[in-house]
Amino acid sequence: MLEAAPLLTVEGLAKHYQLDGGHTLKAVDGVDLHIGRGETLGLVGESGCGKSTVGKTILRLVEPSRGSVQLDGVEITGLSYAALRQQRRNMQVIFQDPYASLNPKMKAGAIVAEPFINYGLFAPRERTERVADLFARVGLRPDQMDRYPHEFSGGQRQRLGIARALALEPKLVIGDEPVSALDVSVQAQVINLMVRLQEELGLSYLFIAHDLAVVRHISDRIAVMYLGRIVEMAGTEALFETPSHPYTRMLLASVPSADARRGDRRRTVLRGEPPSPLAPPPGCPFHTRCPDAMERCRIELPKPRQMAPGHMAACHLIP
Ligand code: ADP
Ligand code: MG
Repeated sequence: MLEAAPLLTVEGLAKHYQLDGGHTLKAVDGVDLHIGRGETLGLVGESGCGKSTVGKTILRLVEPSRGSVQLDGVEITGLSYAALRQQRRNMQVIFQDPYASLNPKMKAGAIVAEPFINYGLFAPRERTERVADLFARVGLRPDQMDRYPHEFSGGQRQRLGIARALALEPKLVIGDEPVSALDVSVQAQVINLMVRLQEELGLSYLFIAHDLAVVRHISDRIAVMYLGRIVEMAGTEALFETPSHPYTRMLLASVPSADARRGDRRRTVLRGEPPSPLAPPPGCPFHTRCPDAMERCRIELPKPRQMAPGHMAACHLIP
């Protein structure tokens, strides 16, 4: 049986920043991924590894240096601004800090209605009805439409950000650390809301986080990034049960266990710091922190290899 084409296909995506003094910073350096309809891909890795840049280049909030991004069969990278604007309705973003992305001088209802106005959609009365529906969908009360962002809690503000992201009925939502700034109990509520909205609306998610524990519940598959590249990608269960890349194992070891969450605060720390993307190590970029690095790892960049169907990793140590 032929599988339906993925909603999003990203190939060879790169973003290289040319800095003063002739340096090149390879924020993203050749990323391939796809996301199916109604599917969630988790994207994890330490701060600075290029996760946000992947999200922003997919949306063309920053222009990719090279590579292809196809959404529902449409190549996004070559589009004119006018055509891109129409495609943007299909892909929306939720940021870590909704406060920074919500205009503090606008009432909550107007914030959620703004996409309708930007795209000239619906008469004023229908806009109001649709905003009320969106409020209900994300668990906010209609009377809160008249409040200002500062009158909301962090979790409620993120619900507001989600309502606005859903206004144009997108197919893909990119969540860039959407729960990272929230308390753990509120994180779970917002993630559960996103799972429910996905089931109701058939959304696809690219869910970015620096913590594997956060993406576990929501992700069908997980991609692990290190210094601008994906080093392992697998179904969520396979990644947790049979992690292949030493970096994935290091990230897993730093996830607090159920016991640790109940009170024992001990946590295995990540060994060392990631190298600067301005001076990436030769060979395998992880070799400077890898407990098992061999001579070959210092010289040769490992190519992605398939461990099992749907499970890839880029590591010389894998037999
Ligand atoms: P993450 O989201 O994983 O923390 P980012 O995608 O934000 O990582 O950043 C990846 C790398 O690109 C970092 O080294 C960051 O400093 C660099 N970077 C991001 N934006 C710019 C920019 N506009 N100019 C130069 N370097 C940038
Ligand atoms: Mg980021």
